[in-house]
Parts: sequence; C-alpha cells; structure tokens
Amino acid sequence: MYLKSLELQGFKSFPDKIKLSFDKGLTAVVGPNGSGKSNIGDAVRWVLGEQSTKTLRGNKMEDVIFSGTEARKPVGFAAVTLTIDNEQGELASEDREVSVTRRLFRSGESEYQINGKNVRLKDINELFMDTGLGRDGYSIIGQGRIAEIVGAKSNERRDIFEEAAGISKFRYKKQEAERR
Ligand code: ATP
Ligand code: MG
Repeated sequence: MYLKSLELQGFKSFPDKIKLSFDKGLTAVVGPNGSGKSNIGDAVRWVLGEQSTKTLRGNKMEDVIFSGTEARKPVGFAAVTLTIDNEQGELASEDREVSVTRRLFRSGESEYQINGKNVRLKDINELFMDTGLGRDGYSIIGQGRIAEIVGAKSNERRDIFEEAAGISKFRYKKQEAERR
C-alpha cells in the first residue's frame, strides 16, 4: 500500500486544481517558507477525515477553503482526493486502487466519497482502521507528535500499539455491538 496521488482544488493555498503524483519510494516536498509544504500534509490529514481544526492549523473548518489573495478571489469550496495503491489488499476493499474524496462548501455542506460513491465519515474511518493510515494513525507524524507519544498515558500509548497490531478494529466492533 502506498500513496499514488493527491489532488487538491481550493484547499488552503491551492486555488487551482492540481495533482501531485507520488512514485514508490521516498518523496520529499521542498520549497521556501510559506509556499504550502505543510498545507499538503494538512490535505492528507483532512481527506482522511480529520475533524480537529487545531490539528489542521486553523480556527474553523472553513479555514481550509482558499480565502483569496490580492490577486485572486476566494473560492467556494475545497476538495481533496487521495489515491492509494491497494494491490496487496491491505485496505478492506475489492479495488486495487482506492480513492477517497472530501469536499467542503462555504455553506457548511460537506461530503465524503470512496471511489466516487458518496459515503459517511464513519465509512472512511472504518476503511483505514488498523492500517496506520487513518486520521488517528501513526503514518503521519507531525511536529511534536514524538514528544506526545513519549509523554502519553499508558492507555493512550496502548491505542497506538493496538492500531499497529491490527486489533483496533475488534475493539471498535465490540463497542459498536454493545451500543445496539
Ligand atoms: P514553512 O517552511 O514555514 O513551514 P510551508 O511551506 O509549510 O512553510 P504552509 O504552512 O504550508 O507553508 O503554507 C502557509 C501559507 O498558506 C500561508 O501563506 C497562508 O496564507 C496560506 N494559506 C493557509 N490557508 C489558506 C487559505 N485558506 N487560503 C489562502 N491561503 C492560505
Ligand atoms: Mg511548514
């Protein structure tokens, strides 16, 4: 499983539709201060279902929508699509390539899709559970995250190990069953 591409439109500092393609192996994003490197990481978090505006470095969710510059008007919505290689079937999907999309309009309306079909946020969370890639996964290590893990309470640290061991899903399913 690896990231194949990331498409952004109207997300933070990217008003136009752009597609970043990643090959197998290492990809580095370089550029001057303020050029949008961290915004790319934010886009990955966001499309994976991140709900914390603080984690996304904003005050309200609308802050992810391109807000305009002197030269450009603001846009009405933000959209991000992340395409993941699933040749090895690590994601619980029949498809060899899985695309997830998230859109947010200024009206507050939002939508999630998996391979072009509308889904709930819950479906996105379930798709990535136990893969390490989800919004609470350990694939994205932001600044300060290492210190956070080292300083975490033992039960919080246990969540990280359970995700890595691939057993979060069972705990989740048990809780779901108990709620009914
Ligand atoms: P550094 O090297 O300092 O970490 P960076 O390349 O990571 O910089 P980012 O933090 O990704 O830079 O980008 C910051 C830029 O994104 C700022 O210029 C900010 O104005 C712009 N930006 C953030 N949100 C929006 C938005 N909603 N609309 C327009 N521009 C935005
Ligand atoms: Mg940065």
